[in-house]
Amino acid sequence: MHLGEGLASLAIEESRPISVINPAQHPRYRYFPTTEEERYASFLAVPMLNRRQAIGVIVIQSTEQRAYPASEISALTTIAFQIATVVTNAKLLDYVSNAYTSNTGLGQEEFSGGIRLKGTIAYPGVISGPAYIMDNRCGFADVFDEDDTDVERELRRVRDALEETRIHTLMLEKRVARKLSEEDAAIFHTHLMILEDRAFQDQLANEIQAGHSAPYALKKVISSYTETFSNMDDPYLRERATDIVDIGRRMLSILTGQSSKALKLKQKGILLAHEILPSDMAVIEHEKLLGIVTESGERNSHAVIMAKSLGIPALVGVKGVTNRINEYRLRPALTRDEVEITMRANIGLVSDVDIALRNGAQGVGLYRTEFPYMTRSNFPDRQDQYQLYRKIVESFAGESVTIRTLDIGGDKSLPYFNLPHEDNPFMGWRSVRISLDNPDIFRPQLEAILMASAHGPVKLLFPMISGIEEIQACKEMVEESKENLRREGISFCEDIPIGVMVEVPAAVQMCKFLVKEVDFFSLGTNDLIQYMLAADRNNQLVNKYYNPLHPAVLQAIKYVADTARNEGKGVCICGEMATDPVNFTVLLGLGIREFSVVAPFIPRIKAFLADIEYTRATEITHAVLEMGSATEIREYLVDALLNMHKSGGL
Ligand code: PEP
Ligand code: MG
Repeated sequence: MHLGEGLASLAIEESRPISVINPAQHPRYRYFPTTEEERYASFLAVPMLNRRQAIGVIVIQSTEQRAYPASEISALTTIAFQIATVVTNAKLLDYVSNAYTSNTGLGQEEFSGGIRLKGTIAYPGVISGPAYIMDNRCGFADVFDEDDTDVERELRRVRDALEETRIHTLMLEKRVARKLSEEDAAIFHTHLMILEDRAFQDQLANEIQAGHSAPYALKKVISSYTETFSNMDDPYLRERATDIVDIGRRMLSILTGQSSKALKLKQKGILLAHEILPSDMAVIEHEKLLGIVTESGERNSHAVIMAKSLGIPALVGVKGVTNRINEYRLRPALTRDEVEITMRANIGLVSDVDIALRNGAQGVGLYRTEFPYMTRSNFPDRQDQYQLYRKIVESFAGESVTIRTLDIGGDKSLPYFNLPHEDNPFMGWRSVRISLDNPDIFRPQLEAILMASAHGPVKLLFPMISGIEEIQACKEMVEESKENLRREGISFCEDIPIGVMVEVPAAVQMCKFLVKEVDFFSLGTNDLIQYMLAADRNNQLVNKYYNPLHPAVLQAIKYVADTARNEGKGVCICGEMATDPVNFTVLLGLGIREFSVVAPFIPRIKAFLADIEYTRATEITHAVLEMGSATEIREYLVDALLNMHKSGGL
């Protein structure tokens, strides 16, 4: 039976139940001999709708003549809806299980070019508003394979994560049902079915049995499913890749203990993203959402369906939108009087690379290597670290990447490395002290960094140095590592620049000696401030004492910057202090020309720089250095910036 033939297909065409007494007399009646339908005197057809599309019809016929009452039609409609969901999901899971191993590449669509970005209208409307770019927070980029996993433990981890994700999914379902509709919430049924699907669970278990950690097993299964889905012909099934990514992301955040953040829009605006996952749409503040634009995504993506429910316009398939919209990012970092400043990024995870590039970072001023150690369940070996560092170095295509050796201890711990209990961990066994006491951890890392230096400009940075002996010990270890690599015939950069973090007050006092040992200083103001002012950077109670504009801090930075400059060595600020325009003005005035900050601050600092004169910043700082009170310094700076604003600058 084809569409357009018979009464059953009328239910599909009209997307509604068809109830007829004496069907043979109906103009749309068509007799199919094999059905022996001539016995029946009443007919009821109810379409099976899934996402407003009919995937089949349920037909009930009776031998007696009767009009089906509304209550029976309604009951059958409910049954049809439930069956439609089950059938679609079953088809979907079947398809994936069969195609589990088929992985072919995705087609690329050309970007239309120019400043006009084109996409497909998924839901029409005209809106304007600020753009919010949502970063891909999936995190699988930072999950790597590991050796020596404990199979039982990993199986337990996966089981727990499945259960927690299931509970979380039920919560999302409730929230969407309350805020939007039952129909919009139905997607989370599919998520639940996948989470409860035997094949999905078995594949995870198989990967763990094969020796992979729980996060890596998840990565493998999720990427295999998504590739399979992405290559399907049916647009509905293709779109299910998004659901798999969504489930994977939520499970991963549970496995790695990172809670996924709710999407917050500062004010009403348009959300731009590579793709918007169902759970993103569930947690976003719907009142502030004016429209959505996605790079990927089909017209029937779940995000689009929700956008329709909210009545907001949606554009999909807008290639390059997340990169092109904030093109300002490419403006140079120049002061108003054209002094060039270098703005680098602080990164920790591979996923930060994309954010850094998108924000126009000139390389990396601080790569905190403890982050990849933290997301694992074992120490990565030399090869794993090398692959990771190399990937990052290559992503910055010729811009320098400063790699800092492991800085654990204090407030950063590793689940698999037992730190002793200490009364005062920030003053304890942390950072380079741990590295120097554990050559088996330190040497592979140094060798991996050296190996990465063959693929682009890499600088090597040591944290928490307080005196000459430590940096000399580190350098000895570097020499040993170089020697090892030479013996193995592995190439690396022979004169890799070496620097120290100046973040312990002793290093400030020692900087005229340290400067002879190194190629550059990296001022770690986060720790420097806390140690100089004896105010824990994470303790709200002493927050008022943690003051970056304290004269002691400014004098210390001046001394370090002057010492480096006089010796022709580099100096970069990589603490959070530089992200505040008031602080930034003083640092600029102290002659600092290189900064490394969390990447999203870079465009803002560039905009600020374009309005401020370097010579004026120098004058302001000159005055500030004569002051003995942090309050006076701040007031003076705020006044000076306001005056500049009034007189046309800023
Ligand atoms: C610092 O101490 O200023 C710094 C940049 O390093 P971290 O925040 O990782 O200690
Ligand atoms: Mg530090």
